[in-house]
Amino acid sequence: MQARSLNYRRGRSGRPLQRAKDRVYAEETHCCRCGQPVDKTLPYRDPVTGEVNPESKSFDHLTELDLESDPYDGHLAHLRCNASAGARYVNAKRSGPTEEALTAGIDDSLL
Ligand SMILES: [Zn+2]
Repeated sequence: MQARSLNYRRGRSGRPLQRAKDRVYAEETHCCRCGQPVDKTLPYRDPVTGEVNPESKSFDHLTELDLESDPYDGHLAHLRCNASAGARYVNAKRSGPTEEALTAGIDDSLL
């Protein structure tokens, strides 16, 4: 519970979206893009190196594929799979080091 304030992020973090994420993270186990299982225990950032972990879980918004769908509709995806599909929310939140770290860890042969 005390870690919540550390992980709290501003921006696209409204309650409905957070609830949608919570549901997806609780119910789904496999990446909606590559079909492989997602280790939901992996942190977004490695606590030791501070590097973004491309294998960590992410909430893949499907609105970019279907603009008429529920804006809070989405599915579980690896961060690298989500990013490779054009994760605008990742890029919009931070520019620079995060995006570089993301792309540096992505190997096209894995997709
Ligand atoms: Zn994946």
